[in-house]
Formats: sequence, structure tokens, C-alpha cells
Amino acid sequence: ATPTALLVGTGRGAQLGILIKGPEVLESTRAVDTVVLDKTGTVTAGKMSLTDLYGDDETEVLRLAAAVEHASEHPIARAIVAAAEERLGELPPVDGFRAVEGLGVLGEVEGKTVLAGRPALLQQHGIAVGDGYSQVKAAAEDRGATAVVVAWDGETRGVVVVADTVKPTSAEAVAELKALGLRPVLLTGDNTGSANTVAAEVGIDEVIAEVLPADKVDVVKRLQAEGRVVAMVGDGVNDAAALAQADLGLSMGTGTDAAIEAGDLTLVRGDLRAAADAIRLSRRTLGTIK
Ligand code: ADP
Ligand code: MG
Repeated sequence: ATPTALLVGTGRGAQLGILIKGPEVLESTRAVDTVVLDKTGTVTAGKMSLTDLYGDDETEVLRLAAAVEHASEHPIARAIVAAAEERLGELPPVDGFRAVEGLGVLGEVEGKTVLAGRPALLQQHGIAVGDGYSQVKAAAEDRGATAVVVAWDGETRGVVVVADTVKPTSAEAVAELKALGLRPVLLTGDNTGSANTVAAEVGIDEVIAEVLPADKVDVVKRLQAEGRVVAMVGDGVNDAAALAQADLGLSMGTGTDAAIEAGDLTLVRGDLRAAADAIRLSRRTLGTIK
């Protein structure tokens, strides 16, 4: 394509709410055949809220989980802290806070070591989750929610369930991507049950779940090694490497700076339909001129 056509395409993109890093980006967009979509914050709103509490002392489960989550920026942590502050007021301080990427958090609260996260995090500390809480967790995940297992003093004490909602435009966006001949893939660190529920809701057949943040980039590489030309859409810090690795990185304008910096295109309004607009724009821009 001529530089002029590319510049015109770039200008048209801005009108559609698509910021394009450079005119050459439109060239790489045209060949894309696979669109990898991050789940949380991309397909879903990324705003979680507390839905259920389990444990012998539910209030204590919420209070101690929230105290340790207070130091985390994760959407799951924000939901737990918001619910706890609303119901219980001020939370006790946490010492020695540590976030384990893709697994959860731990720290000292009132002299107890409190852990909140996936069962694997507890298991790493020699704590068993138990059948009862495992069932509670599985049932929550079947509903599309995320279950955080909470332990202190070396024992599992309860489960906090948080849920996100699918953005109203996501299903339509997936339908548009499919109509353009693209294969959508849902990629997430979240559990398989929740990922499958969200995928079914928006019409995605291919799901890759329980992927650690550092491994998202490897999933993109693996798809590329299969000969697929991959666009990746994401919003989080944990998506940045995958966005950079993809043949085309699309970041949500509502997401983190790290994602926006790593992407080639920014979907300003955080509306997934703009991803389909971007592909259409590039095909049109490059199709009209030889
Ligand atoms: P996603 O790819 O969906 O944005 P992440 O990779 O950030 O998800 O997290 C993967 C999983 O790790 C979460 O679904 C959750 O089970 C667990 N996790 C991560 N951070 C936290 C936290 N602060 N508290 C509890 N659980 C967490
Ligand atoms: Mg995300």
C-alpha cells in the first residue's frame, strides 16, 4: 500500500476509536487468522464483586482474607477488600505481604499467616484444601465465578467467591470476528470452569485456561509455531509480553499502561467490537490499493 493510503487508514482508525502506533501496523493486521482474547478485563468487565462466603466463621474468613488482599492490586483483591470494608469497616494491617503471580497472596495478620488464592498456593505451604471446600470451589466455577480459598494457622478456613460480568458487547464482537473468518481463542489464568462458562456465553469454542502470567507468551508462540498468524487482545500487566510477541497486539484503552505500551493498536473505549473494526479497516485500506 502507498504511504498515503496507510495514513488515511490510520486517520479513519482514530475516528473508530482505534489508535494505531504506526502506519505499518495495518500491514500486519491483514494476515491475522487467529485472535487470542484475554478473559478478565478484555472479554469481561474486569470488575469483580463478592457473591458468596463459606466457612465455619464466614465473617472471619472475609476479614482476614481482605486484610491480606489489601496490599494486592488484583481485581479479585479489590472485590474482597471493598466487600469487607463495607461490612466490617477498617481492616487489620498486613506484614510481610507477598503476591505469588497467578496463584494468590499471603502475609501475616494479627500474628497469623494468612493465605488466599488457588489450592496450589496452599499446597505449596503444605495445607490441604479438603473435599468440602473443593466442592464449594468447583460449584462456584461451574457458575463462571472465581473461588479464592482462604487458610490461616496451617488450615483451610473457607472460600470467598467473586464474580465478574461479561461486557455487553463481547458476544457481538466475537460473532463479528468469526464472520471475518478469524478463529477466536480465550486465554486466561483463571480456572477452566469459569473460562468455559464465559467462552460459551460469548461463542468461543477454543479455550486455554489456568495459564500462568509468564506462560501466556508461550501460548502465542505455540500458535505461531503451528503456522497461525496471531492477534492478541489484552489489558493486563500479565498480557504485555504476549501482546508484544503476537503478530498484532491490541490493547484495551481501559487497561494498564504496560499493555498499552506493548500493543500495536489501542482500542480506546475498551470495546471488543473495535478489534473487528481494526481488521476490517486494515483489509479495506490495503485491499483498495495494490
Ligand atoms: P487473568 O489471566 O484472568 O487476568 P491472573 O493470571 O491474574 O488472571 O490470575 C490467575 C488466578 O490466580 C486467578 O483466577 C486467581 O485464582 C489467582 N489469583 C491471582 N491473584 C490473586 C489474588 N490477589 N488473590 C486471590 N487469588 C489470586
Ligand atoms: Mg486481564
